[in-house]
Amino acid sequence: MEKKNIEEELEYIKKVNQIMQAKGKKYHILTMGCQLNENDSEKICGMAEEMGYTKTENINEADLVILNTCCVRENAEDRLFGKLGEIKKLKEEKGTIVAIGGCMMQEKHIVEKLHKSYPFTDIIFGTHTLHKFPSDIYQTLVKKSKIEDVLDIDGEIIEGLPIIRDDKYKASVTIMNGCNNFCSYCIVPYVRGRERSRDPKDILDEIKALAKEGYKEVTLLGQNVNSYKGNGNLGIDRFSDLLRAVNQIEGIERIRFISPHPKDFTDDVIEAIRDCKKICKIIHLPLQSGSSNVLKAMNRKYTKEQYMELIEKMKKQIPGVVFSTDIIVGFPGETEQDFEDTLDVVSKVQFEQVFMFIYSRRVGTPGDKMENQIPEEIKHKRFERLKQLADSQVQKNNEKYIGTIQKVLVEGKSKNNSQMLTGRIDTNKVVIFQGKDEMIGKIINLKIVSEHMWYLKGEI
Ligand code: SF4
Repeated sequence: MEKKNIEEELEYIKKVNQIMQAKGKKYHILTMGCQLNENDSEKICGMAEEMGYTKTENINEADLVILNTCCVRENAEDRLFGKLGEIKKLKEEKGTIVAIGGCMMQEKHIVEKLHKSYPFTDIIFGTHTLHKFPSDIYQTLVKKSKIEDVLDIDGEIIEGLPIIRDDKYKASVTIMNGCNNFCSYCIVPYVRGRERSRDPKDILDEIKALAKEGYKEVTLLGQNVNSYKGNGNLGIDRFSDLLRAVNQIEGIERIRFISPHPKDFTDDVIEAIRDCKKICKIIHLPLQSGSSNVLKAMNRKYTKEQYMELIEKMKKQIPGVVFSTDIIVGFPGETEQDFEDTLDVVSKVQFEQVFMFIYSRRVGTPGDKMENQIPEEIKHKRFERLKQLADSQVQKNNEKYIGTIQKVLVEGKSKNNSQMLTGRIDTNKVVIFQGKDEMIGKIINLKIVSEHMWYLKGEI
């Protein structure tokens, strides 16, 4: 897919910057979604700061408030409208510019509700028009006009946007956008469009630049990351080719990727994970349900047996590999036996981490139209049973680390105890330990001495 030339948009950054000159204007951003949403927010921050705004964590100080929305779960809407209720007062008191972006803005019924109930919103921009944010701000400032800039066709690949990253040692790099899978509970294909992969040269250049800046770890992002398709540039056509190329980049010591789909774990991808030493040996493999009936109704394109075969195959081929997963409980039609099948897979795989979700209906998805919706009470009971099992496994898995030496990327001071440093091991577990500040940003060896459910304790 062609790269879009954004010269024109970058011009607006300069124009707004001239208007902003030394006015000390501040912006506040609220990111409500997944890692791709967070990566988009890093680009919005990059554009806002190039336009002359400075960031504030205090929304009451802001001259510009940006809400970067998510629409994957029901409570996402409540969060947005709740926040807008708060912002209305700010708007009345100091004329704060209110800009709302992200996946929810691709939903027509939400945009209509904004126009009707929250007419004080200045800018509405979608997932395909993120790069037009500077021109949206310019129109609002100069023409005082209300902006609705949402495209419902697949956006183009946008390269070259300024970016302000949240972290100094590990970075997320989006390699593709959109999804072609249409799982029947998921709104993503309707709000992020069809799969579009970035040019491998642009991805590698971005990661090489990060390595030069001292980044040690990169996470490759995509809604369906392992269906990445290169355009053959630098000989890179497949996801496995890209993994091998990133593995060659000097300075980068760890590679992660999120979120893959079990159906796209082809042999070449498994071999690349095995051969590339820098790829962290914890693989996120979303299961969603352990019942083949429910998987069929979810349109997940694999069965319980196929999922288990893939797990066994990866365990055989990749020494020390462990897994994390996503599970939805209470999908329409899920019987007690179906749920038992889910518990069965969880018991067999012994996941390092299980991200659990209660099924919530999303307007516009096939799941929303299904008849046999599960009563909330049953959903919550199943969620509690799954959580108990998953938590018991976390503890058991933690114990296997005690007495071992683990490589840890030291990320900084512990939030709960400034005397301690914190970091993550290869399998993404948090470790707290006593150490010197000069260790921050480095990968060091630590002996694991104890486990505390959500973190491990280490010693130099
Ligand atoms: S693979 Fe399925 S769950 Fe994941 S983003 Fe695509 S449609 Fe949604």
